[in-house]
Amino acid sequence: MFLNIKDMEVRKIHFAESFEPGELDLAERGLRQITALDAEGTAELLENTGNQVRIQGQFRGEVEADCDRCLQPARFWLEERFDLFYRPQADAASGEEIEIDEGEAEIAFYQGLGLELKDVVLEQLMLALPMQTLCRPDCRGTCPVCGGNRNETPCECQARPGDDRWSALKNLAIRNQ
Ligand SMILES: [Zn+2]
Ligand SMILES: [Zn+2]
Repeated sequence: MFLNIKDMEVRKIHFAESFEPGELDLAERGLRQITALDAEGTAELLENTGNQVRIQGQFRGEVEADCDRCLQPARFWLEERFDLFYRPQADAASGEEIEIDEGEAEIAFYQGLGLELKDVVLEQLMLALPMQTLCRPDCRGTCPVCGGNRNETPCECQARPGDDRWSALKNLAIRNQ
């Protein structure tokens, strides 16, 4: 859905969209969509701000990523509210100093006649994802020696004696005795 500022000049836009898996560009970000992603809210032109647009709303849905530690699928149910301000790209290009009101959310820019809701939702989704994508908080990851998944099969592998981190640990243990 395209949020057109021409429409916003007439009235506030209400949107309620459901993006089916595959509609958002998640694959190139290493993500897979599990459920439809629902987004609803409003887009309005703020008066006397030089075509500044405010988009408020919320989205929810489930995505899957590879666990950072064990590479198995890690699922995330995401549900977030957003309150965003966008200025015309021309403002940024003009080199004019842009004043950002205190307490105001981060300002982004839009080009041309408006914004694609899809892009707005995708950006919010990426922000809602945790920095580290883990299948579970205590994921043990893969063993660096045998390559096994340590969540499934605890292995008896020992870190190699020459491993720096290992000897650092040993030294620490000796000092603590
Ligand atoms: Zn994991
Ligand atoms: Zn192992």
